[in-house]
Amino acid sequence: MEIRQIANQKTEVHSYNTIIVGAGAAGMNCAAHLCEFMSQKGVPNPEKRIAVITAGIGLGASRMSGSDKQTYYKIGTSPDVPDSAEEFARTLTAAGCCHGDLALAEAVGSLREFYHLVQVGVPFPTDSMGTFIGYKTDNDPFERATSAGPKTSRFMSQCLQKQLERYGVPIYGNQEVAHLLTVGSGQSKSLAGVVTIDKLETRNSKPKINVFLGSNIVLAAGGPGELYKASVYPRGQVGIHGLAFKAGFVAENLTESQFGLASTKFRWNVSGTYMQAIPRIFSTDSAGKEPREFLAAFFPSLSKMATSIFLKGYQWPFDPQRIENLQSSLIDILVFNETQKGRRVFMDFLHNPIGSKSMTVFDLDALEPEAYEYLKKAGALKSTPIERLFAMNPPAIEIYKENGIDLYSELLEIAVCAQHNNGGFAVDKWWQSSIPHTFVIGEMAGTHGVKRPGGSALNAGQVGGLRAAEYIVNVYGLDLPDYSKEQSEIDGQLTDLIKRLATYKSPDGLVPEEVIDQIQSRMTASAGHIRELSDAHKALGEAVKLYEDIQQKGFNSQDAQALMRAVQAEHLALASVAYLKAIVELLEQGSGSRGSHLVRASDGIQIHPDITNKAAGGALKFKPENKALRDSILRIEYDRNAPDLFCCRNVKPRPMPAERKAFEPAWQDYREGRIYS
Ligand SMILES: Cc1cc2nc3c(=O)[nH]c(=O)nc-3n(C[C@H](O)[C@H](O)[C@H](O)COP(=O)(O)OP(=O)(O)OC[C@H]3O[C@@H](n4cnc5c(N)ncnc54)[C@H](O)[C@@H]3O)c2cc1C
Repeated sequence: MEIRQIANQKTEVHSYNTIIVGAGAAGMNCAAHLCEFMSQKGVPNPEKRIAVITAGIGLGASRMSGSDKQTYYKIGTSPDVPDSAEEFARTLTAAGCCHGDLALAEAVGSLREFYHLVQVGVPFPTDSMGTFIGYKTDNDPFERATSAGPKTSRFMSQCLQKQLERYGVPIYGNQEVAHLLTVGSGQSKSLAGVVTIDKLETRNSKPKINVFLGSNIVLAAGGPGELYKASVYPRGQVGIHGLAFKAGFVAENLTESQFGLASTKFRWNVSGTYMQAIPRIFSTDSAGKEPREFLAAFFPSLSKMATSIFLKGYQWPFDPQRIENLQSSLIDILVFNETQKGRRVFMDFLHNPIGSKSMTVFDLDALEPEAYEYLKKAGALKSTPIERLFAMNPPAIEIYKENGIDLYSELLEIAVCAQHNNGGFAVDKWWQSSIPHTFVIGEMAGTHGVKRPGGSALNAGQVGGLRAAEYIVNVYGLDLPDYSKEQSEIDGQLTDLIKRLATYKSPDGLVPEEVIDQIQSRMTASAGHIRELSDAHKALGEAVKLYEDIQQKGFNSQDAQALMRAVQAEHLALASVAYLKAIVELLEQGSGSRGSHLVRASDGIQIHPDITNKAAGGALKFKPENKALRDSILRIEYDRNAPDLFCCRNVKPRPMPAERKAFEPAWQDYREGRIYS
């Protein structure tokens, strides 16, 4: 480490072969593999060549998020049901807009990475023969899913962290990323390092700046959770999308965010057994009074309504193609419809669903066969939802208890929330981004298409980290960076940043919390699970204006915390422009309802006369998917001179590689390193 004086400020400069931004399951895994591959190459002290930096080791979706049994999607491990990588990849690409080479790499690497997690100690359950038992998850035709319980991703990142600690790889916590240092331009542009503000050492809004230079950079900072008001991403999961756009990274499929029902007091998905236990779902006024069984009016019988609640368990994300004919995503629409009226919606595990006066009372025997048989096999044909939940999954009750909510006595408030982005930054089959020497992995990488099986995000994050580490060590080598020729370029950017942060104390500046609140409200209203072209256009215009206002007025941040929020607000503002621009562009191309969002159209399909469109008035009508767009991926790139700050274009999904070589030529390719070309 070196101390340098920049813009009258002492700045720590660290140099490593590879810097990994983000300490979630993806980042930690990549660091572990880098260390292993370097060690296999005979490099002494590989741990001195790698560093992980994060806003907080305990932060991020891997550490803080989950569901009833958080799912890990892998190739089937059943002793009697055959599976193949091609079959797995076909499931990943089934709904379109997904690159075939990435899908095949995720399939081929799936078991290797799954067993790596088993080796580091993630407690995935087996039977007495050692079989890893599978179950069926969303968009999954096989039983490829498995789980280590509600906290699967937390266990993953904790076990991988222990691995890194054993290897001695440094993890720098409390580092808020404030800038990505670029050198060169055009085709020869590269990322030299990451500039952070040390959250612990920053006092009275005077930022303590650290610089982490790397020959290679791996971005693993997760999804942009703080973009949304209705969000089940953990608080503080900001991401660095705006910074990455500014540095020149290209993104794909940003429009394909996932939304679903989640509890809001403690942010947690209410998927799987929470729904399969078939709780009563009802609403109250804003004061918690005037209870109403709002679902009942939309179903012909209580058994149909209860079965739809059950199915929501493994049809969890909102899916506009599962609304018609009383399918399970009608529940999300009805919950949203209710909250739009200013009412609050709750799950009640002490009571069975209650119907209208004309309906019979809840009866387990009257459930449709899929629900009844599942509960029977699970030994959960019990009289109340909490008993059924306990029979199927006691840890699902414990996780709420740990977070101050007792499902035996409390109602659970829920809403339709943003939970994941299938899109993200574009990568090739080694997870290398549009900028050489820089890799994007985990949720920050845009490797999924329009739909993905539940659990495949965690698989993709692990495989991406493995692939990036393998490529870095075998192709880019193990040297520490030497940016002496680019020193003035780097110093210029650091000076600009320090000067800019100094202006964030202007009394006429914007208030960071208000800016973030504005972004979140706009994104939830116009870039959430219900979208419409003219509304998205308007929202895009407002988002661009907010970003320009920030450039002109700066911020009024009078303490260290407000300064940190100002930095986040600025890049979130740019990220929100990118998301809205992508949405507008896709809608202009004539897209319809797909993935996890519904497109409103006045001449579309009416769901029910009482399901209304609050923004435009009248009944909510939706446009079906435009399937022609499945063969086209929307790319987006920052362009300061473009009217909306971003430019879009379409690319075709890359096909799944079909070449299969005989062993000897494949071995030769491997020995000669041609597999990386
Ligand atoms: C409620 C919920 C349930 C989910 N359930 C499933 C599931 O069942 N199966 C599945 O496959 N996926 C699931 N997902 C998605 C999955 O959990 C995430 O996609 C995955 O954990 C992301 O891992 P990651 O390592 O890419 O990022 P994260 O785990 O989010 O880590 C991001 C890291 O980057 C750091 N960071 C972020 N912003 C900054 C910044 N500005 N400065 C510095 N550091 C920063 C964070 O502190 C953290 O260390 C779920 C997500 C949620 C929210």
